[in-house]
Parts: sequence; structure tokens; C-alpha cells
Amino acid sequence: MSDAPRSHGRKSIRASLQPQDLMAHNPRLARAWRAQVITLFPQAFPGVLGESLTGKALKDGLWQLETTDLRPFGEGKHRNVDDTPAGGGAGMVLRPDVMGRAIEHAKSDAPEGAPILYLSPRGRRFDQAMAQRLSEAPGVTLICGRFEGMDERVIEYYGIEEVSLGDFVLTGGEIAAQALIDATVRLIPRVLGNQASTEEESFSEGLLEHPQYTRPAVWKGLPIPEILLSGHHGHITSWRRAMAERLTKERRPDLWRAYRDTHGRDPDEDQEL
Ligand code: SAH
Repeated sequence: MSDAPRSHGRKSIRASLQPQDLMAHNPRLARAWRAQVITLFPQAFPGVLGESLTGKALKDGLWQLETTDLRPFGEGKHRNVDDTPAGGGAGMVLRPDVMGRAIEHAKSDAPEGAPILYLSPRGRRFDQAMAQRLSEAPGVTLICGRFEGMDERVIEYYGIEEVSLGDFVLTGGEIAAQALIDATVRLIPRVLGNQASTEEESFSEGLLEHPQYTRPAVWKGLPIPEILLSGHHGHITSWRRAMAERLTKERRPDLWRAYRDTHGRDPDEDQEL
């Protein structure tokens, strides 16, 4: 049971990392970026965030993760968290009193200045710029919805910002929360071994990334583009830039227009690539 979520009062903390103990013994953690997640499924965390680079960074205390289990804040013997929609219709809605108590609890432990966001298909579309901004904040508090979502008054009362992963409907906010945390945490300095890799990848400059290759030099008769093996760094840089521009132009006219605008070029002027 040692790595099951441990209950500290009403809050369940993913105990394998003992965030609060580490904080006491390691002053660096006092400044660690902190994600707090309100969810009916705390056992779903850290999930994939516990693997690979984000998992290592979590163990190293570069960021912290804390879940607030919604269930104990529920009503009555069965700790009910939902009820039928006012005005009728299908499904269930998360109760504002229950969610309110969970939010108050999570807020009491959140770093000052950490925004509180609700994962929701109606929200503003999550993107790299938002990940960058969040990574510069002291942390974030995320609310994962379930069923038909939560009572609108909670959003209004706490001035919560809604954030969407895209134009599709998930069953709950947990996968969306993990995606948002993953994209954000990898931008925290030292989380990725090679910091330069975030500066060159897709979206960081408003372009999609150029294609990548590795050994073997020929695979199924397909060679790596010769220029990449030439050792000529100047040519390689221009080739990569040209490929990134071409891909962006073909696949994402929206990004391409924005890129051309900020680079002071005419978006309609066809450039030979
Ligand atoms: N009835 C709602 C959908 C509820 S889906 C509607 O039509 O808008 C249940 C929960 O899953 C939501 O409360 C939200 O937390 C999460 N969710 C679903 N789709 C999402 C998306 N695209 N981005 C972020 N969270 C999403």
C-alpha cells in the first residue's frame, strides 16, 4: 500500500513523493512549481506524469503534484457530489456546495498567484503560449469535471478560467489536466535535460518543427537527407528553417499567417522554399 494515495485529513496526497516532507528538508522545494488537482479520481495521478522526464523532475522536486479528492466533500452518508440538472435533461451536474468546499480546501494550500482553472470543452483553447505563462506562475489549481460538468455558479463565484484541450468531449477532466501539466512542466528550467530542445520545437517560434531523422542512414531504401550528414551547420540550419516554414504553410495556414505577420512579410507573397 506504500504507493497508494495517502489521506491527510480530507486531502489525499500522492505519497510516493512525500511533497511536504521534501519541502521541509529541501528549501529548493519551497519554490517548486506546484500543481493542485481537484478530482473524483485522485488515483489517476500522477499517471503518465510519473514517467520519464516529468516523473524524474517530480522526484527531484522541480515540481510538485497534489490531489484533492472531491468525494470526502460530498453530502450525506454516501458523500454525494452530483445532482440532476436544474430544468431537466440527461446526466448529472457537480454540486456547487461540494465543489466550493473542495476549492476552499485546495486554495488554502495553493501558492499565492497560482491561477485556478476548470478543464472544460467550452474553455479557451490550451496552447504553447498558455503553457509558457503557466510555467512562469508559481503553480496552478485545476478542477476536473465529470458527468455534465459543474454548476455554473462555481465558475462565476471564484472567477475561474475555463481551458479546453480541443474541440472534442472527454469523459472527465483528468486526461486534460495531465496533458496541461505535462506541457507546462516540461518548460520549467532543468526539467528537460537539454534546455535547447524546447527552444527549437514546434510552436516555440510560431512554426511547426522540421522533420527529424536518426540512424540507420538508410532504412527500407530511404536515406536521411544528405544535407543533414554534410556537417555544414549553416546549411543544416537553413534547410531546417525552410522545412519548418513549408510544413507550417501546408498544414497550418493559421499559424503561417501569424508567423508571416510577426516577421513583417506579406503572408500572400509566395516564397520559394
Ligand atoms: N456537458 C459538457 C461536457 C462534460 S464532459 C459540455 O457539453 O460542455 C465532462 C468533463 O470532462 C468536463 O466537465 C471537463 O472537465 C472534461 N472535458 C471534456 N472535454 C474536455 C475538453 N475538450 N477539454 C478539457 N476538458 C474536457
